[in-house]
Amino acid sequence: MCLICDRIEMIKRGENPYFVRELKTGYVVIGDHQHFRGYTLFLYKEHGDKTELFHLGKAERALFMEEMTLVAQAAAKAFGAEKMNCELLGMGDAHLHWHLTPRVSGDLGTYGNHGKGPVWWLPMEEMYSDENRPAADELEKMKAKLSAALDEIVNE
Ligand SMILES: [Zn+2]
Repeated sequence: MCLICDRIEMIKRGENPYFVRELKTGYVVIGDHQHFRGYTLFLYKEHGDKTELFHLGKAERALFMEEMTLVAQAAAKAFGAEKMNCELLGMGDAHLHWHLTPRVSGDLGTYGNHGKGPVWWLPMEEMYSDENRPAADELEKMKAKLSAALDEIVNE
């Protein structure tokens, strides 16, 4: 069972509170945990045997990459990123999905190399702490901000 396929089924049933927007190749969702404020994911629509970018046809891959880039740009704008981190990993669930993390100075606290470095230098217990789950009203505000930024970028 794939967690991301489950979440997509929730979106289709209108039951995923993190869902922001459907694009041609995937779904935009706000991350469950928000230590890095504005952490957003872009979930590819299909799973099956497509678990690598090189499993996609050229045109589909180009569109998936383009849409991911627009979502990253929107997250940067909505959440005031100094730098965006865009990762496609898949070691938890192989389902193609992008982790789009807005980064700002000091967001690793005392961790990392003098407070600098990749998101995975934050201890897992802190990254996934329940304290980092957005409250329902905060989640709605974040979704509205990201959605507005997406509108602006797509219409530019
Ligand atoms: Zn899946």
